[in-house]
Amino acid sequence: MPEFICTTCHTAYPFAEPRWRCECGGLLDITHQGSFDHRKLQDRSFNMWRYREALPVSGERVVSFDEGCTPLYESTLSDRRVWFKLDYLFPSGSCKDRGGSLLISQCKAWGIDHVVEDSSGNAGAAIAAYCAAARIKCDIYVPADTSSAKITQIKNYGARLIKVPGPRSETAKAARLAAESLFYASHVWHPLFIQGTKTMAFEICEQLGWRAPDALILPVGNGTLLLGAYWGFCDLKRMALINNLPALIGIQSAHCAPLSKAFAQHADEPIEIEKKWTMAEGIAIANPARGQHILAAVRKTGGTILTVSEKEIASSWMDMAQKGLYVEPTSAAGPAGAKKYLSMHDKDQTIVILLTGHGLKK
Ligand SMILES: *Cc1c(COP(=O)(O)O)cnc(C)c1O
Ligand SMILES: [Zn+2]
Repeated sequence: MPEFICTTCHTAYPFAEPRWRCECGGLLDITHQGSFDHRKLQDRSFNMWRYREALPVSGERVVSFDEGCTPLYESTLSDRRVWFKLDYLFPSGSCKDRGGSLLISQCKAWGIDHVVEDSSGNAGAAIAAYCAAARIKCDIYVPADTSSAKITQIKNYGARLIKVPGPRSETAKAARLAAESLFYASHVWHPLFIQGTKTMAFEICEQLGWRAPDALILPVGNGTLLLGAYWGFCDLKRMALINNLPALIGIQSAHCAPLSKAFAQHADEPIEIEKKWTMAEGIAIANPARGQHILAAVRKTGGTILTVSEKEIASSWMDMAQKGLYVEPTSAAGPAGAKKYLSMHDKDQTIVILLTGHGLKK
């Protein structure tokens, strides 16, 4: 069995006991070294659980809607060939279902019957959906200005919804307080959520014929997606299924870009910023808890973190819709940043752009 390891003081904790942070308050990682036999995949169902051996979960039965194996769609952007990974096509309408499925599966295995989570919308919806399937009660804290579609969705899953006025950080604070008595099924804090997200990297490589792309471009806020991609590609490299890690290109809104600022200044930690409103609500995170890990991961892959303006996000949102790809504005930040990246790099690169949230959620 794997262990949880504190990223601050390196204390180890057994996997058999529910836990979301270290006694010292530090963030946890997990010692699990994922691997699967790719020759055995042929006979398996087309969902994220085909890589089961790489996913740390102790129960026999998992909480799953057979989600995953989303299309890797070959298309163009700025007249260049790119692949869009359609991760907005999940049961709850966003890429958060990968982490939700694994984390709630383990909550079920631990016998937990009530969890709390906070989110700008999509993680809350994913946790609420899997809790509904698992018959686990959940309390979801969201900022009061969260889109009404996401709020209705979370409520309709049967979650108790708590709207918190003020900035996103207030919502996180309220949830952490509630987490003193309930299990915190946090997509940011819980390493199992990020472990579930790894399957996105596995799918991309399998869909490219066990080849890594040269770059993976994706929006980044708390970095649960970006770190999941990183952990997944690291697993694939350890398994010798790929030779090189793809450059991870994180995209932030210029109105909330603590990681991009830190990256540009060669800092190890996110830099404090003054956050302004952005239509990319899903990545409007001023102080990402795993910021240090995100910056290190991007550097290790030779990647970068770019920013996009509100105008660029808005026009990218329309461009995507006119290709038939109806994503939410947060997700459109990805292709907006990809346009910048493409203009700086040569033509024969294999570029994958992750599309993260469904447009109907706006
Ligand atoms: C969660 C999410 C992301 C990525 O956010 P991280 O906090 O960096 O994991 C991107 N797009 C959408 C639509 C999301 O819901
Ligand atoms: Zn610790």
